[in-house]
Amino acid sequence: MSDVLPFGEGALDEPLVDVALPVPLRQSFTYRVPRALGVLAEGTRVAVPFHGRKLPGVVVGHPARAPEGVRLASVAGVLDREPAFCAELLAFLREAADYYLHPLGEVLRAAAPALPAEAVRSLRASGFLDAGEGLARPAVATKRRAFVRRTDAAVERALGARQQAILALIDERREIGLDELARHERSPRPVVRRLAALGLVEVEEREVPADPFFGEPIERDAPHEPTDAQRAAIEAIVGALDRGGGTHLLHGVTGSGKTEVYLRAIDVARARGRGALLLVPEIALTPQLVGRFRARFGDAIAVLHSGLTPAERFLAWRGLRTGAVRLAVGARSALFAPVEDLGVIVVDEEHDPSFKQEDGFRYHARDMAILRAHRAGAVCVLGSATPSLETRYRAEQGKLSYTALPNRATANPLPAVEIVDLARHGAGPSGHPLITGPLHRGLEECLGRGEQAILFLNRRGFSPSLRCGSCGEIAQCPACSIGLTEHRREARLRCHYCGYETPTSLRCTSCESATLVPLGLGTERLEDALAAAFAPARVARLDRDTAAGGRAIESVLDRLRRREVDVLVGTQMVTKGHDIPGVTLVGVVLADQSLAFPDFRASERTFQLLSQVAGRAGRGERPGRAIFQTFQPRHPAILAARAHDYDAFYRAELEERRGLGYAPFGRLVAVRADAPDERHAREAIEALAERARRELAVKTRAVEVLGPAPAPIKRLRARHRFRMLLRGRDRRALRAVARAVVQRIDEGLGTARAHVDIDPVSML
Ligand code: ADP
Ligand code: ZN
Ligand code: ZN
Repeated sequence: MSDVLPFGEGALDEPLVDVALPVPLRQSFTYRVPRALGVLAEGTRVAVPFHGRKLPGVVVGHPARAPEGVRLASVAGVLDREPAFCAELLAFLREAADYYLHPLGEVLRAAAPALPAEAVRSLRASGFLDAGEGLARPAVATKRRAFVRRTDAAVERALGARQQAILALIDERREIGLDELARHERSPRPVVRRLAALGLVEVEEREVPADPFFGEPIERDAPHEPTDAQRAAIEAIVGALDRGGGTHLLHGVTGSGKTEVYLRAIDVARARGRGALLLVPEIALTPQLVGRFRARFGDAIAVLHSGLTPAERFLAWRGLRTGAVRLAVGARSALFAPVEDLGVIVVDEEHDPSFKQEDGFRYHARDMAILRAHRAGAVCVLGSATPSLETRYRAEQGKLSYTALPNRATANPLPAVEIVDLARHGAGPSGHPLITGPLHRGLEECLGRGEQAILFLNRRGFSPSLRCGSCGEIAQCPACSIGLTEHRREARLRCHYCGYETPTSLRCTSCESATLVPLGLGTERLEDALAAAFAPARVARLDRDTAAGGRAIESVLDRLRRREVDVLVGTQMVTKGHDIPGVTLVGVVLADQSLAFPDFRASERTFQLLSQVAGRAGRGERPGRAIFQTFQPRHPAILAARAHDYDAFYRAELEERRGLGYAPFGRLVAVRADAPDERHAREAIEALAERARRELAVKTRAVEVLGPAPAPIKRLRARHRFRMLLRGRDRRALRAVARAVVQRIDEGLGTARAHVDIDPVSML
């Protein structure tokens, strides 16, 4: 390497930096800083030579002396004018890396936005040296739109019917896009021009980001007068903010007005000059929530979502970093948003498993939000209708403050829930095995009244599409031990884990019999059956397949809201926080699927899903109703969800967990190993188990080693998988064993790969 100089040369007058690199090594690397680059503060991204490549890294320290006997290379270039990470964020990320036993460089890479293409080009051109100019002007897609607003002028003369209609539309909103107006009224331009001439409206053209979240004009949203319960929650949160931080659990039933509490708490924080961060499970599913935040706080919000181009993401990041934007909204990775002077972090639906990152840097955004808030002197607000057992238990122990919103904010009660026993009710008139008589009648009544329905079909992991009628073999992915899912319209079978696909064959791959039986568990089949049975009702579907791209999701939800869809069928995506007044019936087609999951949280997860989805019904004027179809009508999770009785569920489940030593009474670390060859994978996990068993904490039984055993999904992407669990009550003891395992992983395992997953959510 030509740019590596022998140790000692220049070392006296050139300062040194420690750089964290995105490599799976648990150490930082020391480099010399050429004088021309000036002083490099901690948190600055730099380009450095590493084994013949140039890698982006982050300055994480300033060692006084060079490590002995090492030839030091020089920093090749600086990627940030201002450090990308402020001190608060960097300190937090260090702690997160340490907690999850993950290399800091990889954590920092997960946290920072990729550099925009333009910047990268200029970096290349200048051999990585001072890219500052390239970063100053990132491109962001914008478009010009015309907006119409009402003026203060009173209507003093009789208006024509068209003029009245259009004025009424404008009156409904603070402002409305001319293009949107054209969707409701044919060629509105001349009418708008006339209204403008009369001084009743004004038209403004401006550049708006092409980002779909900013496409719609801001809707009118007058703050509600808080209910007593909301007021108590707001006071508790603001109290904590003024005392220098804390964690608050806001336990409010669906529709109880949690969002209003978030808005007010954030409003107070802003008035105190503090920034705020809102984390939601899935940003694409929450355009409504973003709309409410824009309505309250205007467009100075960084909405971080996966649809952003690198340039847009970079721009959002920079807006926050410079303090120009003080509010960020996004899914789990928004946890790393560089909000300055953080005052409030809200984690909405804190129980949602999607806050857990399941590969690479495996972190839990809710747990880390608590840590970040603590470090920043901010309040972390955890909101949920069905708090996780861990969170509720900590509130009970007095480790975090708690308020309950026990009633809906609007007059309507929670929906009445009816359980349909699938062992006693088969297919109804439609012939589809999962549309029983009671569900069929429920839909008929709902549609007959001109109301809307949502049907939820859980489809995770273990729900294959086809089974051989003669040998019972399930159509499986050749690379994964997972059933294939049938996509009827394309006549293809697909693996939802690795993407493998094949034409739907007519014969069993195992016995060649031509008697493949569809298991009827797919949303597509259900959609078709509903459309046929309830014509002319308009049926739409929302799942991973229909939702390729954020716009598709938004458009389905939009059609539902505008009543252009009567029945929405879908997977977990339909259970999230949608607030659609016309929906009065919710059907859970098969409540058992999530119960069958090999996971100690299966019961809790089922209770949460059922409560969430039932909560979509009856949010408007008309009362709601929910139907749960199940083979286990006496299951405690199902009964508690029917009764909307979180407390009963919590008490019973807590005792189960206490008996078994699972969270919140014990902690887990999952250790997984995989390899193309089954024997190598097995040997790797054995080696890790062996190392764990040598630890004192295991010998004294402070930590148990469960397994190793084949993982519930034995094979994935053509690799065989094994797993063991470390379980213990004492955090330190567990950590010591996990560290020993990590050390063994770092020593190398041949063709096998392995990782530790601290506080795992997925048991797969
Ligand atoms: P959650 O987030 O708890 O599901 P939302 O914040 O979406 O509940 O509120 C549910 C509905 O109640 C919304 O339509 C909201 O506008 C309304 N709402 C919230 N707070 C109040 C209040 N204090 N008075 C009247 N309506 C309210
Ligand atoms: Zn067969
Ligand atoms: Zn597969």
